[in-house]
Amino acid sequence: MHSFKSVFNEDAFLSIVKQHQVQIAQELAALNQQLRADQLFLGVRLDEQVKILVTADSDSESEGISYSLVGSPCEQVMNEGACSVVKDVQLKYPRDKALKHFCAQAYLGAGIFNENEDNIGILVALFTTPQPHVSQWLYTFTVQAKLFAAQIQKYYLARRTCHQLALLEAVSDISNTGAWEYYPATNQLYWSEQTYRIHGISKEQPMTPERAMSFYCEDSREQIKRDFNLLLNKGLGYKEEFQIVDNDGQKKWVRTSGKVELGVNGEPKRLYGAFEDITELKQALVISEERAARIQNILNSINDAVISIDTDGIIRHCNAVASRIFGFSQDELISQPVEILMPEPYATNHKKYMVHYENTGNAKIMGVGRQLPAIRKDGSVFQMELSLSESFDMGEKRYVGVIRDISERLEAQDTIYNLAYTDSVTHLRNSQWFQQEFQDLLLRAAVRNEYVHALLLDMDNMAQINTRLGYSNGNKALQVIAEKLLFTIGHDYELYKFTSDSFIVLSKRTFKKQELHYFEPALIENALLNPRHFEIELEGVQWPLSASLGSAIFDPQSQNFERIISVLELSVKRAKASAPFGLCHVSNDGIEEFDRYVAIKDKLKPAIENDELSIVLQPQVNEYGALTSFEALVRWHSPELGWVSPSDFIPIAEESHVICDIGNVVLEKSLRAISMFIRKGLDVSIAINISARQIILPDFSTSLLEKVRQYAIPPQLLMLELTETALVMDIALVKQTMVELSRYGFRFSVDDFGTGYSSLAYLKELPISELKIDKFFVDDICEENSGKASQIVDAIIEMSKALKVTCIAEGVETQAQVNYLTERGCERFQGYYFSKPLPAKHWLENALMRFPTRKQALSKLL
Ligand code: C2E
Ligand code: CA
Ligand code: CA
Repeated sequence: MHSFKSVFNEDAFLSIVKQHQVQIAQELAALNQQLRADQLFLGVRLDEQVKILVTADSDSESEGISYSLVGSPCEQVMNEGACSVVKDVQLKYPRDKALKHFCAQAYLGAGIFNENEDNIGILVALFTTPQPHVSQWLYTFTVQAKLFAAQIQKYYLARRTCHQLALLEAVSDISNTGAWEYYPATNQLYWSEQTYRIHGISKEQPMTPERAMSFYCEDSREQIKRDFNLLLNKGLGYKEEFQIVDNDGQKKWVRTSGKVELGVNGEPKRLYGAFEDITELKQALVISEERAARIQNILNSINDAVISIDTDGIIRHCNAVASRIFGFSQDELISQPVEILMPEPYATNHKKYMVHYENTGNAKIMGVGRQLPAIRKDGSVFQMELSLSESFDMGEKRYVGVIRDISERLEAQDTIYNLAYTDSVTHLRNSQWFQQEFQDLLLRAAVRNEYVHALLLDMDNMAQINTRLGYSNGNKALQVIAEKLLFTIGHDYELYKFTSDSFIVLSKRTFKKQELHYFEPALIENALLNPRHFEIELEGVQWPLSASLGSAIFDPQSQNFERIISVLELSVKRAKASAPFGLCHVSNDGIEEFDRYVAIKDKLKPAIENDELSIVLQPQVNEYGALTSFEALVRWHSPELGWVSPSDFIPIAEESHVICDIGNVVLEKSLRAISMFIRKGLDVSIAINISARQIILPDFSTSLLEKVRQYAIPPQLLMLELTETALVMDIALVKQTMVELSRYGFRFSVDDFGTGYSSLAYLKELPISELKIDKFFVDDICEENSGKASQIVDAIIEMSKALKVTCIAEGVETQAQVNYLTERGCERFQGYYFSKPLPAKHWLENALMRFPTRKQALSKLL
C-alpha cells in the first residue's frame, strides 16, 4: 500500500525517481549536452548520506552509490544553498571520497526541495578538469534543480491522485454510487465509471445531458429535467429517487443528486452530483412491506389482541382487536409503556420481571398461556389469557403477546361454558373450541414462519347405525371411538369433535420448513385409520364401522382458517372415493388442486350460461356388433381452464343444484341429436345420465315429458341411467318417479352396477330394464388375479337374468373382454373397443356406416 502522506518526502522522492528513471535520465542527458560535465546526477538525501539515483550517462556504474555528506561540498549545498567550485575541489574537501572516486576537479551542486522547503535531494555536476566559468552556470543549474523538483513532485501528485481515484472508484463500486459532472460553459457532461456501469453502457461513449435524461422512465423524465434546470438556473440542489431503464432494458431504481459550484461572478461553473443504484434496497423494502402487510392481515383477521413490545417494554405494534379490547386507539397505545395495560401490582413489578428474564431467560409465562388481570382505558379490570413469545423485527428483539379477553368465558365457566365448548356426546372439545385454538396456532406458526398439520377424520357409515340401531347406539359408538382415538394420538396431537360424525386431529406443535422432510405424517395417519378403532360392539353384535381421513400440512402465511377447513373437507371427500378407510394426504399440489376445485366451482354456472357445454355420443352395440344406441356424455371446454373432464366437474356440480342445470342442457342436446337421427332414418336410442339430485326434483317427470313432446321424440328412445346411489337416495320418491315415467315408455339402466349397496329384493320392485356393469370390473376380467372381478361380473349377469333385464358392459377395450362377456351371456357392450365418444355431427355425417344397424345385423344372421 502506498502512503498518502501529503508531504513529498525522501521516500517518495526515491520511489518516484526510480519509477521515472528513464525519463529523468534523458532530461539529465539533455542538460549535459550544454553543461558537458563528466558526471551529472540526481541524488537523494538519506540521513547523513547522499544516494545517487540517476545519472546523465545511462551506462554509468555510479547509480546506487552512496557517499557521506560530512565534509563534502554537497553538505554545504544542503546547508547554505547552491555552490560551485572552479578547481581543486578535492583539495578543498579532502574527506569527500566520492570526489576522489570520480577524480573531480570542479563542482556544481544545487538542492532539490519539497513544498515545505526541506532539502530532500541534490543535483550534482562533476568535472575532471578545472572549469573557470563554472560559476556562470550556477543560476541555470539552480533553476534546473527546481525544475527537476517540480517535475518529480508532479509525478508524485499524479500518482497520489491516481491512487485516490482508484480508492474512490472502489468505494463507489462497493456502494453502487457513481458521479456526474457538467460544465455549462462547454455543455460537457462527464460520468464516472460506475455511472456508466449503472446505465449498462461502456465508458467510451460520450455523454450529453439529453442522452442521460433519455434513460429515465417516462413519468420521471419531466421531473429530472425540471430539477436539472432549477439547479442550472437557480442553483437549487436536488436529491431524488427515480426509475431508469438501462441499456439492456432492465429497470433500475436510482438515487440521483445535484449540486452547483459557482464561478467568481456567481455563474454556475460546474454542476455535479452522485448517482446511486438503489434497486436492491427498493426490492428489499418492497418485500419487507409485503411481508409486513401480510402479517398485519393475519393479525387483523384473528379474534385476539396482539401486542408487541421492545426490550424496554414500549409498545411497538398492536392490532385492531387490541385497541378494541383495551379501549385505547392504536395511536394511543403505540410508543406507550406496556404497563398502562396492567393493574397494580403487576404494573410496578413488570420492569423487574423483564430485567429478570433478560438476564436469566427464565419466565413462567413464555410460550404458555396464562391467566392474568388486565386494565382497560376506562380503568375496568378484566381477566385475560396471555401467551408470550419472542421474535425479532429487523434485528431488534420483540416480545409478542397474544391476548384474549376471557372474562366472559370465565363467567360462564361451568355448565354453559361446557355446553358451548365441548361436545355433549363424547365430551371432547368441540368445533368452536377447535376454531379458537386453531387460530391461535395458526398465528403462532405464521409469526414463526412454521407449518401446521391438521387432519379431518370422517365416519363413513354412521347414518346407517343411527337408522338401524337408533341414536343412542350411534352415540355410544362415537364415545367408544373417541376414547380409542384419544389414546392413539398421544401428547403431540389434540382431538376435537368437529361435526356430528367427524373429528379433527390437530398437531400441537408447529414445524419448521426443514423439519418437514423428516416429518412422517403417515405415522399418525395410519394409527388413526386402524380398523380396530372402528370395530364396535352394539347390542351384543360386532359392527365394523369405517372412516375416511383427510390430512394436510399448511403454511399459515398463505392459508386462512376457512380455506384450511375447506381443503380438509375436500380431501375427506377424495378419501371417501376409496372408502372404507380412505386416506387423502394433501401436499402443496393438493392445495393447488383445491384451487382448481374452487375455480371449477366458480366457473360452472357461467359455463352453462355461456353455452360452453356440449355432448359427445358413445356407441352401444349388441352381441352381433350392431349399433343399438348411444350414451350421451357431457363435455366442457372452458376458455380459462381448457378441457375439464366430467369426472372432475360432475362431482362438484353434484354438490349443488348446478347438476340439474347441466342435466337439462344434456337432455336438450341429446333430444336434438335424436331428432336429427330420426330425420336421417336411423333407428337408435340414447342413454342419458341422470344424477341423484335431478331425479328427486318434484317436477322432474313433468319437465321431461314436456321436453320429449316439444321435440316429438318417442320416450322409448330414451334410456335414463341412474347410479345405485341415486336409486337409494329417497327410495319411495325415486320409485314413484320411475314408475310414472316407465308408464310413458321411458326405460331405466342402473349405472356403475356393482359398486353400490342395492339389494336384489329392492331392485325387483323398480321398473328397471338394464344393468350396467361398471368399467371397474370389466377392466379386470381378463387380467391375472381377476378372480374376484370375474365373479362379480358373472354374478351381475346372472342377476340381470333373474331380474329379466338386459345387461350391458361399459369400458370394454379388448376382444378378449368381449369374448368373455359374450360367453357369460352379456348382451350389450360399450367401450373404446368399439368407439370413443364423439360429437353427434360425426355420427350423422358418415361414421354410422362403420356399424351395421340392427336390421343389417339381423339380415346378416338370417
Ligand atoms: P359414466 O356414466 O360411467 O361414463 C362412462 C365413462 O367411461 C365416460 O367417461 C366414458 O368416456 C368412459 N369410457 C367409455 N368407454 C371407455 C373405455 O373403453 N375405456 C375407458 N378408459 N373409458 C371409457 P367420461 O365421459 O369422462 O364421464 C365420466 C363420468 O362423468 C361418467 O361416468 C358420469 O358419471 C359422469 N357424466 C358424464 N356425462 C354426464 C352427464 O351428462 N350427466 C351426469 N349426471 N353425469 C355425467
Ligand atoms: Ca353412464
Ligand atoms: Ca359407469
